[in-house]
Amino acid sequence: MIKNESYLNSKIWLSSPHMSGHEEKFIKEAFNTNWIAPLGPNVNGFEKDLESYLENNANVVALTSGTAAIHLALVLLNVSKNDEVICQTKTFVASVNPVTYLGAKPVFVDSEIDTWNMCPILLEQAINDRLNIGKKPKAIIVINLYGMPHKVKEIQNISNKYNIPIIEDSAEALGSSYFNKKCGTFGDLSVLSFNGNKIITTSGGGALVAKDIKTKEKTIFLATQAKDPGIEYSHTHVGYNYRMSNILAGIGRGQMEVLDNYVALRRKNYRYYYDQLSSINDIRFLNEPEGYFSNRWLTCIELPTNKMREDLLHLLQENNIEARPSWKPMHLQPIFKEYTSYLNGVSERLYKTVLCLPSGSNLTKGELDKIINLIKQYFG
Ligand SMILES: *Cc1c(COP(=O)(O)O)cnc(C)c1O
Repeated sequence: MIKNESYLNSKIWLSSPHMSGHEEKFIKEAFNTNWIAPLGPNVNGFEKDLESYLENNANVVALTSGTAAIHLALVLLNVSKNDEVICQTKTFVASVNPVTYLGAKPVFVDSEIDTWNMCPILLEQAINDRLNIGKKPKAIIVINLYGMPHKVKEIQNISNKYNIPIIEDSAEALGSSYFNKKCGTFGDLSVLSFNGNKIITTSGGGALVAKDIKTKEKTIFLATQAKDPGIEYSHTHVGYNYRMSNILAGIGRGQMEVLDNYVALRRKNYRYYYDQLSSINDIRFLNEPEGYFSNRWLTCIELPTNKMREDLLHLLQENNIEARPSWKPMHLQPIFKEYTSYLNGVSERLYKTVLCLPSGSNLTKGELDKIINLIKQYFG
């Protein structure tokens, strides 16, 4: 189907790119100095910006995608064939695909209801169960779903107790924090994404956040074909071509100037939906537990039944509004059906009953009102 421009313009998107106007100066600079490639000042600058934003000795490597960052995180933790990696089942598929790139096996763990992220109780059960059959998991991949931080302290305690490292997939949670510490700094390795629909975008990109400079250097080495020092193109490790381009990093530098503003705008969207809709008994919002600060990447509402969620989804779609069910759990995905999971019903319930609403930082009040009025109408 050919969509004409007015159609595209009138559609209300779930989360569309939002350029600030600051991006082009960095791209122009790259053109003016012919620093199109290779790596250059924008890549270094973008990494510096992220490092000072995240604080806590974050050591950032800009990469081609969040998926690439997860892949390299697993490589850095020596995950290899037939190893097991514990993964939050309630997530986007990119959190788990890289596990299978390495021939390793995901073991899925369900969510708790306070943050919708990995349930610590079930995680500990899963670990003990794997230990009983002699399979110590190599890593734990935990998510900050829709921007909501996971139960950091509880998960870290388990990680320390059993000595299993954490990969924090913070692709959706740049700008979120937990007791004033930024998400993206809670894993032994953490991951960010700058895909087109994330809170800031480089059109496509990601980053790995390490705790020390040595790991940063090793990540850069692996991401640039693992070429040994010298000019002979000698290789003792398998490498990848995963570095971010200097042009795209320029977009990232411009986006970093407005990140906090975009977090405020997304939180304002959430607050507006909440103020307008929370008096409807059938609609539930996910509140922030004390000490939790979500960037509210997406505002999600939970309905009492699957039918109501489907009704609302279709109503919005018919009105040219992009809304979505929440992520289909990984243990329900045909590609992952052979793997073990530890379930409590939460992720399946959320999959059936949660609706993700348009949440971009560039939404207008008119657009929000249109969505809200349709939902109010539905509930009469
Ligand atoms: C977007 C996303 C990713 C993947 O990031 P890309 O940059 O698109 O590869 C990974 N995990 C989660 C939870 C995401 O939302």
